[in-house]
Amino acid sequence: MRKGVWTLLLVLACLTLASAQTTRDAKHVVPTGKGWGVESTTAPPVDPYSVTQGNGINYHGGPVMAGNPVNVYFIWYGNWTNGPRPSDSQVTVGLLESLFGSGGIGGSGYEKINTTYGDNTNNVSGNIARVSSTTDNYSHGTRLSDSGVQAVVSSAISSGRLPKDTNGVYFVLTSSDVRETSGFCTQYCGWHTRGTISGADIKYSFVGNPDRCPSACEMQTVSPNGDSGADGMANVMAHESEETASDPDLNAWYDSSGAENADKCAWKFGPTTGGIGNGAYNETFGNHNWLIQMNWENARGGGCDQRLGGTFYTR
Ligand SMILES: [Zn+2]
Repeated sequence: MRKGVWTLLLVLACLTLASAQTTRDAKHVVPTGKGWGVESTTAPPVDPYSVTQGNGINYHGGPVMAGNPVNVYFIWYGNWTNGPRPSDSQVTVGLLESLFGSGGIGGSGYEKINTTYGDNTNNVSGNIARVSSTTDNYSHGTRLSDSGVQAVVSSAISSGRLPKDTNGVYFVLTSSDVRETSGFCTQYCGWHTRGTISGADIKYSFVGNPDRCPSACEMQTVSPNGDSGADGMANVMAHESEETASDPDLNAWYDSSGAENADKCAWKFGPTTGGIGNGAYNETFGNHNWLIQMNWENARGGGCDQRLGGTFYTR
């Protein structure tokens, strides 16, 4: 997931992506999991699938995550007790645990948008919940590469700090003093992918503390929970969790430009209570208000909405 690095350039960035799409239609573009597509060297699959098609996003034959619920694991990397910024704190930890906790995002009308995605066997359930968390005290220092992120996940599993779960999404959440060297804050705000870890197909996601770069990765610095880091991360984590459930191996659901479902609605919000920049929110779950982007509904022709069957505010 990425945002125009400078908020004022967001519209230009969108236009750039849209024009790129028109020149790429003849080729097969696949998602990177970081919010943009790359041309594939393999031919696109023929389209024999018995799943819903024609809603602006296409099925490419891979599995979805049909777990009911999908399990979430947090790896708090760095210093989340008294890190360099106020949001590197146990308050942030508690807020994000409540987002994926009882009465949280899982099972909400918002998350049910994801039930419009399936494979030839099952649909996504729309239920998702955190199972457990662990910490990582800078095992790779303050500079993490993409492979370093996978190593952090691998270490948490092989050491038994987290279970090995092919129905899981492992979030590596870094405190604000940590760089992700492939482009956190400049190319993306979070990403998801998969790797073979301990012989299993493990899905994981990187999301950094966006208080490191508010102009790039936060919609507002005055936020509904008074914790711009947590509120910014909540938006990115919702995005990455939706994509992981609907496109866990980067070979199931994406459009002709390689955009996955949440990419198609990145940084687009339905109506809010309060003005953007002034603590605006548009969702309430887990006993908190949140400003969380829309997701692409794979029905009714397709569009971005805030809840299953709701108004399409962007098509
Ligand atoms: Zn994305």
